[in-house]
Amino acid sequence: MRGLLIFCLCFFSEATIGQTLYILGTLQDGGAPHMGCEKLCCSVEKPHDFVSSIGVVGEHQSFIFDATPDFVSQTNYLKEVSGHKNVVIFLTHAHMGHYTGLMHLGREAHNTAETMVYAMPKMAHFLSKNGPWDQLVSLRNISLIPLQEDQEVFLDQSITVTPLKVPHRDEYSETVGYLIKGKNKTALYVPDIDKWSKWNRSIAALIETVDYAFLDGTFFADGEVPRPMSEVPHPFVSETAALLESLPLKERQKVYFIHLNHSNPARNAEFQGRIDLEKQGFQFAEFGLSFDL
Ligand SMILES: [Zn+2]
Ligand SMILES: [Zn+2]
Ligand SMILES: [Zn+2]
Repeated sequence: MRGLLIFCLCFFSEATIGQTLYILGTLQDGGAPHMGCEKLCCSVEKPHDFVSSIGVVGEHQSFIFDATPDFVSQTNYLKEVSGHKNVVIFLTHAHMGHYTGLMHLGREAHNTAETMVYAMPKMAHFLSKNGPWDQLVSLRNISLIPLQEDQEVFLDQSITVTPLKVPHRDEYSETVGYLIKGKNKTALYVPDIDKWSKWNRSIAALIETVDYAFLDGTFFADGEVPRPMSEVPHPFVSETAALLESLPLKERQKVYFIHLNHSNPARNAEFQGRIDLEKQGFQFAEFGLSFDL
């Protein structure tokens, strides 16, 4: 009888504890309000308008992809939904929206002990050799774990994470996106890439192999910001949608645009360009959205 009870409890917990991916932020590195912007896009401060990041909650551990300037609020949210005390960090690259949140782990702030930080070789080298980040390493606030391109990392209960190198402005580090596989579903996270055509992979083919694709939606269209947009190349949302328009609806519905610049008109759900794309099946990431893995 007691054995049966234990079996039932185990079965119950196994069946109820899933693996879930959460959207923790949707904005480009500079966030919103964006410094220096006096336009309507930055006139109102919205709650939970955080820089692009996703969280993955496994059975025993939680993982956060990128340590953004909104890292404290994002990790607090992840702790709240997971009940896990600590998070393991995966970094994509050394642009300000993607790693500077690590500062909260240092002696001046949380002073963590060996928080696990997965990073590609140049990213890990950058953190180890440059202040103030090297102090996180020397004081063992963080423990850097090297990743290799296309090499799967096995985590928690059957979660695997694979870094995929992408073309981007790599001043201080290489840049990766991530394939995240849970027990049942797979997600692709590519917050920053210069152009799909510069990649040695086909984004359309990759989408067919995953269940969710969170893709660089920085700018909606050319001419959006008053500076040469070739200095900050990204696939425009309109370009990505055109590239993928021949895919079947069920494939287009996997796409969620993320990492939106403050200037991107699609931040407004009423924007006609966004409504038209949503009619085609494309979606836009929102803070707090959750997905079974
Ligand atoms: Zn970025
Ligand atoms: Zn703005
Ligand atoms: Zn970047």
